[in-house]
Amino acid sequence: MGDPAVIRIFDTTLRDGEQSPGATMTTEEKIQVAEQLVRLNVDIIEAGFPAASPGDLEAVQQIARRTRGVAIAGLARADVSDIDAALCRVFEAAIKAGATTINVPDTVGYTLPHEYEALFRYLREHIPGIEDVVMSAHCHDDLGMATANTLAAIKGGARQVEVTINGLGERAGNTAVEEVVMALRTRPDSYGNVYTRINTQELLAASQLVSRLTGILVQPNKAVVGQNAFAHEAGIHQDGMLKNRMTYEIMTPQSVGWADTKLVIGKHSGRHGLDARLRQLGHKLDAEQLKAAYRRFVVMADQKKHLTDADLLYIVETGKETPAAI
Ligand code: MN
Repeated sequence: MGDPAVIRIFDTTLRDGEQSPGATMTTEEKIQVAEQLVRLNVDIIEAGFPAASPGDLEAVQQIARRTRGVAIAGLARADVSDIDAALCRVFEAAIKAGATTINVPDTVGYTLPHEYEALFRYLREHIPGIEDVVMSAHCHDDLGMATANTLAAIKGGARQVEVTINGLGERAGNTAVEEVVMALRTRPDSYGNVYTRINTQELLAASQLVSRLTGILVQPNKAVVGQNAFAHEAGIHQDGMLKNRMTYEIMTPQSVGWADTKLVIGKHSGRHGLDARLRQLGHKLDAEQLKAAYRRFVVMADQKKHLTDADLLYIVETGKETPAAI
């Protein structure tokens, strides 16, 4: 099964993700996503559900033909409908029949992290031949546990995770690739130093592409790829960030594709944050000037939700605190 420390990333944005209400993509759009998944360096792309429709079949074929350096998978159901019911013996039979990966899904998002970890551990200890097989985790976010469960599965011995960009997927969605990848990268100490081969700097581009093509917006406070994931407004945080980034950032924005941290200038910002932005805008104020500008800034920030750079320049250049427009 290769390097036991590698966590394979099996991306199912184009199959489970596309099953999200309203997320249907054309074949051309799916190819664009597949090309971005190649840049992201995922290990396996689940390109669709060929039996679902002729369009799906065509998309899977086209993607398999046009992408290089990545395995392409298509979902097929087992004929025995109650296959899930007999959990160890089915897996044992599958391994005897030559399976190299077995998937242990939590399709309805019901399990909890300690249970899912224990299940993987149990399978690893009780199925003959399991050591030659990759166990794969597949989670849904119905209770907001998809990422936690996926990480728990890795602790229990999973070496493949089935994930989607932005956590797109049926109902509350699947496990978000960006969250699992960055959790493993930020806290390798907790997972026996396993790693993924993901090119993390492509995570944001992947998120934005999928959001644009499906029309499904990413919530601003979404981990890693949300607009506010690296934004700081509170004065004390801005001050800390300006002194030492590691104070309030456990990973750098650049490591996932953002240009930089965003210091949002609003009513929670302090003098230090205002000073930093004004310097970026070409105004270096002395202590007295800054004090006066900050006083006017606080008055304006109480009246406007979003202060723009133009507002800050207005404060400094006119000495006023209320734009004519208000
Ligand atoms: Mn699923």
